Amino acid sequence: MDAVRNGRNSASKKDIQHITNLSWGTMCKTVNALLEQGYLFARKEEKTNSPGRPVVPLCVNADSALFCGIDIGASTTKTLFCDMNFKILHRDELPTEPYTTQERFLDWIAGVFEQELKESGLRRELLHAVGLAVSGNVDSEHGIIVSGGNFGMKYGADVPVAEIARRIGKPVYAVTTQAAAVCAEYHFGKRAGCGNLVSIGLGVGIGSGIVTNHLLLLSHPKRPVGYIGHILIPGNRHLCTCGFTGCLEAYSGSRYLAGIARETLPSRPELHSAPALDRAAALGDPDAVKIMTTAASYNAVGIAAMIQLYAPDAILFSGGQSKRDGFLFRTTLEKLAEILPPERRSCFLDITNLGAHQSAIGAARLAYETFF
Ligand SMILES: [Zn+2]
Repeated sequence: MDAVRNGRNSASKKDIQHITNLSWGTMCKTVNALLEQGYLFARKEEKTNSPGRPVVPLCVNADSALFCGIDIGASTTKTLFCDMNFKILHRDELPTEPYTTQERFLDWIAGVFEQELKESGLRRELLHAVGLAVSGNVDSEHGIIVSGGNFGMKYGADVPVAEIARRIGKPVYAVTTQAAAVCAEYHFGKRAGCGNLVSIGLGVGIGSGIVTNHLLLLSHPKRPVGYIGHILIPGNRHLCTCGFTGCLEAYSGSRYLAGIARETLPSRPELHSAPALDRAAALGDPDAVKIMTTAASYNAVGIAAMIQLYAPDAILFSGGQSKRDGFLFRTTLEKLAEILPPERRSCFLDITNLGAHQSAIGAARLAYETFF
């Protein structure tokens, strides 16, 4: 399907065989089945005068199936529906309901899905599967949402994804927000198709997703791998949600920055939020500059570590603190340039162009990969 999709409606069977490396027989069998089921169609060929077998261009039937992506974030939950070409047909966001009990959470998420499906006006029977991105810990393999600290779901809440699937009547695949984000970069971003990618979310927390050698790195809650937010920074004495002291996120995450300002600058309530600190630092306020420069140095250490560990060709930033003209973001890149060895400076660094629904489209893509 990707070979046809990426062939922009002019891929022939020969092209598909070339891209997929399948044997001619297997490829034909698969393509014919997809044609029969209506997921692909053959474009009417134009008459040519060239000799040999006529080339039949294959196309994805965009209307043949729908996928849904839901991204449960700290404060908002973004939902979208897309077609077979991942064209977004409906998108929206609703406030995330703080977690209280499993039963209420299940009711709430099913309610979000139903409300959005109704508003989209799309046909339920065409919907194949739902991808759920969760700002927290997810055991994707066993289908368990372990925690969602940013919306009050404590570690060990262990919400079974199968129960969500049962309530909405469609298969559901759950994954972390950051894995969904980098999946979206890999398929739809500025460096789509690039085999070694890192996405970094600079927001309430500091998160990262990794594609290495074209493979999406999936973490397990008990064995978190590739997480930038919990790189330990010498000199950082702040306690992290994970229980360790000194994690990068426990200083540079926007919620922690606000806490640090409250703690160290009690008489300056106007600086008690990350955006306020960023604006004040840009104007040269020495208190704000001090906090934000420290945050930038910590960010730079974390990003440099990711570059050293995964040697990505590109890093794409997202989240509320990834602002081109922001003091923290600009200073982070400056500090990074100071510590990176020359050989590593070729890594492409930029802010994502995928927008607020990045993880939702990534989750929809993963639902497609899992269930289609
Ligand atoms: Zn931590």
